[in-house]
Amino acid sequence: MTELGTVHGVVLNGTGGIWRVRRDDGVTIEASLRGRVKKSNSGKRADGSLRRDTISAAAETLKLTVGDRVVLEQEGEDGAWAISEILPRRSHLARRNPGGGHGERIVAANVDQVVIVFAAANPEPHPRMLDRFLVIAEANELAARIVINKVELVGGADEARKRWMDYERAGYTIHYTSVKQREGLEPLHDALAGVVSVLTGPSGVGKSSLLNAMFPGLNLRVGEISESVNKGRHTTVGGFVHPLPGAEGGYVVDTPGLREVGMWALSPTELDQCFPELRPFLSGCRFADCRHSVEPGCAVRDAVARGDVSKARYESFIKLREELEGVKPAR
Ligand code: GDP
Ligand code: ZN
Repeated sequence: MTELGTVHGVVLNGTGGIWRVRRDDGVTIEASLRGRVKKSNSGKRADGSLRRDTISAAAETLKLTVGDRVVLEQEGEDGAWAISEILPRRSHLARRNPGGGHGERIVAANVDQVVIVFAAANPEPHPRMLDRFLVIAEANELAARIVINKVELVGGADEARKRWMDYERAGYTIHYTSVKQREGLEPLHDALAGVVSVLTGPSGVGKSSLLNAMFPGLNLRVGEISESVNKGRHTTVGGFVHPLPGAEGGYVVDTPGLREVGMWALSPTELDQCFPELRPFLSGCRFADCRHSVEPGCAVRDAVARGDVSKARYESFIKLREELEGVKPAR
């Protein structure tokens, strides 16, 4: 419940104590973070259920992050703004610290979906990298959406589509786009408008170009979305939130933290849950702790052998699992 006269806003980015916050009236201001911030994040979802990671989420509460909704207070009529409270997060994108420990770094708060952009060509896409991004989204219980841009370079959307069928079969929505030929932009626009999306993918795939083409007025420089990674900008606060122009609103979050994909500590035993197409088979394995690699009676391998699960995705799972277990793959 908002008290009368209380000003709320969304944290866009910050550097060393000063945060850029977009007030709900659309005006962006700079605000400092008070020494003591009220803790109102309960670690519960909006529906009251507890998150899997409640304990670590609660421990992280007082660390402000991009995407956070905050209560603002102004000292005097034209005085400086201060952030007095962080409102409960409805979701987050978090990175667990590698090397154990229960530390978890919230990379962005209140995220609705992760949008992963690759190019059909130039640069050549790496499905394994896509799989990593998808696993990160799944591990955070966030919806994921895939964009394959520059489809005109491979003969159009229908041609491009052939290469990515495994992902459609796994249940992911894929947008085939070309900024150059203004193709597929409208459905992607509609998927981004009004919600909070973390946008990620390798540099040079057309993320900035796509956003500019779909949201005139955003005026990102070409390469702007990726620069934050390459040049190490914003890394201290983990991201940059771009408010989307247009009546529906919405935000696109650029977070370099997501691209350090090798650094995400995930328990190897949780990995199979992060491949949605494997989930229906997991309860069919003979052993409850089946690793789906050499164990007899493995329902996952049976599904792969029958062609019900993509071999490439399965191999990606095995590779990632070996990585998470710290085992060097056999050559
Ligand atoms: P980002 O690094 O992902 O933000 O990518 P940019 O938006 O900076 O785009 C990288 C390059 O790809 C630029 O030279 C763009 O003009 C080009 N590009 C973007 N979209 C397309 C497309 O649909 N087709 C082709 N051929 N080039 C594109
Ligand atoms: Zn198995």
